[in-house]
Amino acid sequence: MIPESTSEENSTKKDIDEPEPRVIVITSGKGGVGKTTTTANLGMSIARFGYRVALIDADIGLRNLDLLLGLENRITFTAMDIIEGRCRLDQALVREKRWKNLALLAVSRNYQKYNVTQQHMRQLVSSIKKLGYQFILIDCPAGIDVGFINAIAPAQEAIIVTTPEITAIRDADRVAGLLEANTIVDTKLLLNRVRMDMIQNSTMLSVMDVQETLGIPLLGAIPEDTNVIISTNKGEPLVLDKKLSLSGIAFENAARRLIGKEEYFIDLDVPPKGVIQKIQDFFLGED
Ligand code: ADP
Ligand code: MG
Repeated sequence: MIPESTSEENSTKKDIDEPEPRVIVITSGKGGVGKTTTTANLGMSIARFGYRVALIDADIGLRNLDLLLGLENRITFTAMDIIEGRCRLDQALVREKRWKNLALLAVSRNYQKYNVTQQHMRQLVSSIKKLGYQFILIDCPAGIDVGFINAIAPAQEAIIVTTPEITAIRDADRVAGLLEANTIVDTKLLLNRVRMDMIQNSTMLSVMDVQETLGIPLLGAIPEDTNVIISTNKGEPLVLDKKLSLSGIAFENAARRLIGKEEYFIDLDVPPKGVIQKIQDFFLGED
């Protein structure tokens, strides 16, 4: 059983009628393609747009969402502790330092014995919903890894992250099938580590090629960018940078599209002249 929330947590609730919270799992076929980077950046963006967002790190054994958010020293309890009765949900749900409407729950400690079930995941998500969170993003293991089925159990929507490599795309296709078999049909594609130079000299599949191969609606395309590594090392998502990098802009755009506010894509297939300037004007101007 998962204990009920405290009054402090309940204070995040709004009085007005709200749509059902959205529970979205971020997954992939292959490992190491950018699921955690995506969860951190989409989560932070959506929180900055004013929504209450809870992130669940369900990638057992490869927990690192806390590092990307700079919260690694703040995690005292995990979902395992809640399930085993050692703490309440609000004690395990760690608030981001500046954006208090963004919280993180780690499912287990690295290398901790893992015995979270689908039922546990559903209970956890249902308790988080009761605290008034509007978006719950689950950083999930890759499709073939332990914990995948449990991590997707509470979700109604999925984002499949892939790189434009043929092996990753094939595995992404397989995971799309797995999601469908588990009744998640609302799936979107996020293509990561796209290199415009390689697309232009035809050594990398274009964004459109990948999207057509998989037949999944495109949420966003993120360029290969060393700023991603810098932000990981800093423990600060890219979308917090004062001067947004192209990948930061691409993640923000994907977040806008996810919340249904934006139909704006960066064209990574054929970048028009001055595209970065145009995008910056767009963001600095009529936001
Ligand atoms: P996953 O959660 O799928 O295992 P991560 O988000 O941890 O993947 O990313 C794996 C590695 O790839 C990390 O070192 C990360 O910094 C790097 N990475 C992810 N996206 C990009 C990108 N767009 N450009 C450059 N490096 C990236
Ligand atoms: Mg990860």
